[in-house]
Amino acid sequence: MGYTKQKILNMAETEDVEFIRLQFTDLFGTLKNVAITKSQLAKALDNKIMFDGSSIEGFARIEESDMYLYPDYDTFEILPFRPHQGKVARMICDVYKPDGTQLENDPRYILKKVLKEAEDMGYEFNVGPECEFFLFHTDDYGNPTTISHEKGSYFDLGPTDLGENARRDMVLNLEEMGFEVEASHHEVAPAQHEIDFKYGEALETADKIMTYKLTVKTIAKRHGLYASFMPKPKYGMCGSGMHINMSLFNKEGQNIFVDENDKNGLSKEAYNFIAGLMKHMRSMTAIINPIVNSYKRLVPGYEAPTYIAWSATNRSPLIRVPAARGLGTRVELRSPDCATNPYLAIAVCLAAGLDGIKNNLQPVESIQRDIYSMTDEERDEAGIENLPKNLYEAIQEMRKSDFVKGVLGKEVFKKYIKAKEEEWMEYTSQVTDWEIDRYLGRI
Ligand code: GLN
Ligand code: MG
Ligand code: MG
Ligand code: MG
Repeated sequence: MGYTKQKILNMAETEDVEFIRLQFTDLFGTLKNVAITKSQLAKALDNKIMFDGSSIEGFARIEESDMYLYPDYDTFEILPFRPHQGKVARMICDVYKPDGTQLENDPRYILKKVLKEAEDMGYEFNVGPECEFFLFHTDDYGNPTTISHEKGSYFDLGPTDLGENARRDMVLNLEEMGFEVEASHHEVAPAQHEIDFKYGEALETADKIMTYKLTVKTIAKRHGLYASFMPKPKYGMCGSGMHINMSLFNKEGQNIFVDENDKNGLSKEAYNFIAGLMKHMRSMTAIINPIVNSYKRLVPGYEAPTYIAWSATNRSPLIRVPAARGLGTRVELRSPDCATNPYLAIAVCLAAGLDGIKNNLQPVESIQRDIYSMTDEERDEAGIENLPKNLYEAIQEMRKSDFVKGVLGKEVFKKYIKAKEEEWMEYTSQVTDWEIDRYLGRI
């Protein structure tokens, strides 16, 4: 796009923009913004807008809490779901310290660092996410519930699908912001949906995931529904994942995962990439499945992975190579969920894949069978490991990993582990309804 300061000022004028939201994402994936009026736009474009970083999760550094927002000009976008007179635009920002250097705790910075490494190796990283979500009713106070009267299932359509109109509106709003929406459909569980947009450059895609979630939630509310990306909102039903489709392109725009002479149509780099992901999977799971609830989704029986394996043909494993070939050749990682910070998730995935390429790692044989029908002994024999079974196990794996520490940087690594450990401690000391049901009357 290549927007300039003058171009943005002109657009704001001709489009009748009244407010501009300066957005960024905290360490745990929550979108934040400060709104300014048009009178402050020139100042914002000169990187002069300050905020108190010590109040942002994961940014806090009391000694230097003043931080600056540097807008990425190319992310200037008018929000179509805000008023059409006196419009609201947004820009996604990088976070800088007063000394003019970038804040190491800014997740966008962490992703940019890994992208630079890929670029130095001659690669562009392309990412296509598949975000799933539920549309639930709200209670009399407007709070989300897990209730829905809808009984739709995979690919069902109206009138069973009450979310149909909401989904239509979501797609139209996304398209107005330049998303190329490739598909939208009802998912397997009642009230569960998916909207997919076309893959693109990794940083742009991470930004888009943040915009996507905001849009889906905003439009759902307009339809009297609540959109939740919680990984497993209901026991006994499918959870919501965020499959990440990945490929590397060279400077000529060719997909380097392709090799037509290979039996799976994959290049050496694609195999290396898969091997890198598998090698680091246990230690990066705390990033891509970051909350207690994430692990309730990663159980057998609901199309979510539990074992570390890959396949060029079947869907049960963690990593799959979809049938598309040519430019669409890609590796699909199926464990991540939408609770993840997309900047960090994409950063660790890319770093793991690059590690595979740099060290010429080879994946074990691809699994053609349904892993769930194998016995424990057969899985052991095939060298198939488990994903961490809960957040605690995932944190312990992450703690041991110099690889994850290298990607996040020492300070973020420490902060992240500390926060997640506290989350786990609080959770694990709860007395749940399940326990009361099961034990109170028996013991
Ligand atoms: N909902 C499933 C998950 O948890 C995925 C279902 C699908 O898209 N095939 O990952
Ligand atoms: Mg899908
Ligand atoms: Mg799906
Ligand atoms: Mg998928």
